[in-house]
Amino acid sequence: MHLRITASWKIAIVALLILLFILPGCLPQIAPQISPTNGTLAVHFIDVGQGDAILIQAPSATVLIDGGERGDSVINYLKAGGIKQIDLVIGTHPHSDHIGGLINVLQKLTVKEVLDPGIVHTSKTFEDYLTLIDEKDISFTEGRAGMTRELGDGVTMEILHPASPSPSHLNDASIVTKITFGQISFLLAGDAEESSEKEILQGKGSLKSTVLKVGHHGSRAGTTAAFLQAADPEIAVIMCGKDNAYGHPHEETLTRLSQAGVDIYRTDMHGTIIITTDGQNYDINVKQPYRHVPRDVKVP
Ligand SMILES: [Zn+2]
Repeated sequence: MHLRITASWKIAIVALLILLFILPGCLPQIAPQISPTNGTLAVHFIDVGQGDAILIQAPSATVLIDGGERGDSVINYLKAGGIKQIDLVIGTHPHSDHIGGLINVLQKLTVKEVLDPGIVHTSKTFEDYLTLIDEKDISFTEGRAGMTRELGDGVTMEILHPASPSPSHLNDASIVTKITFGQISFLLAGDAEESSEKEILQGKGSLKSTVLKVGHHGSRAGTTAAFLQAADPEIAVIMCGKDNAYGHPHEETLTRLSQAGVDIYRTDMHGTIIITTDGQNYDINVKQPYRHVPRDVKVP
């Protein structure tokens, strides 16, 4: 069969091509591009209010760990940064303050792979998230302790937890990762609490890290003294919303961190926190850490 393209169709096609390819190039760039310079690693702790969303830009992979609550915060951040494709999306566990915002990401960006603990949750948000992974035929991996990924130029990601997650306590099903680049490392604890921390401490991997993304928004249920001692971070990042209903971060956690001499950065006070590293040194976009003055409380 011969396709006959009439003159008016030709004009329409040319007009469409101009609209698609030429015009956008002429428009001024409003948002800064989120692209690290060659050979660097950038970790963005995106302020999404009460929830987690961490963008990792490694030399050869873009990884998004969680997406905050349902809504546009994360997708807007990614779009403003010119990100169109995510190599790996990790949903640490099925709570809505972690996977909610991933729904828009799965819908609007090209996502190559989703990794999560493989635990089912009976919420509409979780159902929508699963449906999208299925409909878009996105490769899916159940994350388990011991898995590793190479993210380019020597940047590695290890999964430290869970080994055998249970649906009975979703926070303790959290995927916990450690990203290492040369001398600098990031321990990203999801919403892990005490029992997860104990399991991780019994595991093989070294917990020693430069930066600790504090578990469960700084709840007293996590960041036990033993875990903190093993991680021995220089920097703690706490992701939580201003005046959140849970009272996160809890006084006990802040006291443990400040007594251990860790510099604390908080998304509820500093907004989005971006740490960039060349594997030797690191830079933080926030000038002053939060100074905690411990109240007179018992620290277990
Ligand atoms: Zn959470």
